Amino acid sequence: MTQTTAAAESTSPQKVDAVVIGAGFAGLYALHKLRNDMGLKVQVVDKAGGIGGTWYWNRYPGARCDSESYYYSYSFSEELEQEWSWSERYPDHNEIRRYLTFVADKFDLHRDIRLSTTVTGASYDAARDRWTVRTDIGQDIEAQFLITAVGCLSTANVPDIPGLADFRGDWYHTGHWPHEGVDLRGKRVGQIGTGSTGIQLAPELAKVADHLTVFQRTANYSIPARNAPLTDAFQTEVKETYRDIRDWAKRVTNGHPFDIRDQSALEVEEAERRRIYEQHWDTGGLRFRAAFRDILTDRDANETASDFIRSKIREAVKDPDTAEKLTPTDHGFATKRPPIDTHYFETYNRDNVTLVDLRAAPIEVITENGICTADGEHELDVIVFATGFDAFTGSLEALNIAAPDGHTLRDSWQAGPQTYLGVQTPGFPNLFMITGPGSPSVLCNMPVAIEQHVEWVAQCIAHMREGGLNRVEPAPDAAGEWVAEVNRAANATLLPQASTSWYLGANVPGKPQMFLPYAGGMAHYADICDDVARDDYRGFVFS
Ligand code: NAP
Repeated sequence: MTQTTAAAESTSPQKVDAVVIGAGFAGLYALHKLRNDMGLKVQVVDKAGGIGGTWYWNRYPGARCDSESYYYSYSFSEELEQEWSWSERYPDHNEIRRYLTFVADKFDLHRDIRLSTTVTGASYDAARDRWTVRTDIGQDIEAQFLITAVGCLSTANVPDIPGLADFRGDWYHTGHWPHEGVDLRGKRVGQIGTGSTGIQLAPELAKVADHLTVFQRTANYSIPARNAPLTDAFQTEVKETYRDIRDWAKRVTNGHPFDIRDQSALEVEEAERRRIYEQHWDTGGLRFRAAFRDILTDRDANETASDFIRSKIREAVKDPDTAEKLTPTDHGFATKRPPIDTHYFETYNRDNVTLVDLRAAPIEVITENGICTADGEHELDVIVFATGFDAFTGSLEALNIAAPDGHTLRDSWQAGPQTYLGVQTPGFPNLFMITGPGSPSVLCNMPVAIEQHVEWVAQCIAHMREGGLNRVEPAPDAAGEWVAEVNRAANATLLPQASTSWYLGANVPGKPQMFLPYAGGMAHYADICDDVARDDYRGFVFS
């Protein structure tokens, strides 16, 4: 190839039918569905150096999925289900990346994925109904459809604590954990944050660090995960009954194939209630939430679950003062995303672990030697931020996607995201979001939510191609009504009552606060989407 031809090629846009941003669970399935099943020309781009999405970045010690492996997986291929075997009840990040690589190999996906490629912006040419996606590698990509598969929890939230630049040690955010690992032997490590990530992380850090200081702002509930290797007999049974398992996952509220007991926590005597909670505690994991049907809808019922877990924390932690600090009192169990753990509370019984209660003594500044709270300085060699993400909207807004009128998503969503079904937003034609704000997403076992969204979007695109339609976007009224429905569904639960929750955007200073995922249940949501499609895509405007 001559130099001139190469230069011309690198500047002329690549032309495809659809650009997919993100090569995690959602992006890989979108590529498979649109290219392999429907024959579209598709280009996937991802800024990561490998596939895996959230699991490419989250490699902190203890990083493991909270959904159980046999159903935290794709259901679209029976062959894939039979060929792949999971090793543990909850897969760790390495195993999930191996699984996704197996999927990408099997369905020949790699050839249409460009890694290490950051989207710097996108704009829409209304005359041609084409998106132009700009990237940092210099070549634009033009496509009729732009599909974001960027995940809900991808933009790290590093709190703006004064003095971080002065810190002489190293610091890390769990969502950008170095791939080569971090040698913490002999180090004094400070961990900020006790959400799902921090609760997985602390026991692992404590095992290697010289000393671990956990800086806790809000005490959290956690349920023992009870992780264990999967037996051959279990694997065989799963493989023999996969169709039933998948159907089950699709007909329940959270996409997890287990049923919630159809009984109120308030209907039973205290001793019987305790017995049921004990049984669910022994089972472990997110199944604990299924002990009674009203844990997330009735404050008194919720208090029985919260109280049970508080008693478990006091049992597990030997020092009563530390136990008290670790006991949540300001929100009910599962009103924030409930973590699951492996010996989290017991970790505080170790001699090399200290808990700092930031409610009593907030962080004032980071110095060159460590973290200063109102009580004094904690000397540290390493600081680990387990401080979560700018969830739902952060990664979408960072894409710098502009509507035909020049407004970006960030401009349009200043007061919070306006979406219809969480799949499209008014003013942005042919832009589809996989698990966008206003869809069940994080309130569901993610692969179930992802497959439903990808399939719905694919069906909509097929409808357009069959009908010779070039453009689709939601009517503003439809989006307004959907936002009202998202609020209604949230307010029918106790979820909006946890005022510092990332479900509300409350963890990021300055972010507009509104309840972001759809809490009406995955099965119900899927029925609504199907009904909209059957009703000639009610609320969407085609041209
Ligand atoms: P998170 O739930 O938002 O927790 C962040 C923690 O950092 C909270 O304890 C928060 O305290 C604290 N924090 C934030 N800013 C702070 C500040 N300026 N000073 C002191 N503390 C501060 O984030 P996450 O733990 O990374 O989890 C996010 C979500 O990711 C989870 O809920 C879950 O959906 C997902 N996740 C999944 C898995 C899995 O499946 N295996 C594992 C990890 C995470 P406050 O509570 O006071 O705000």
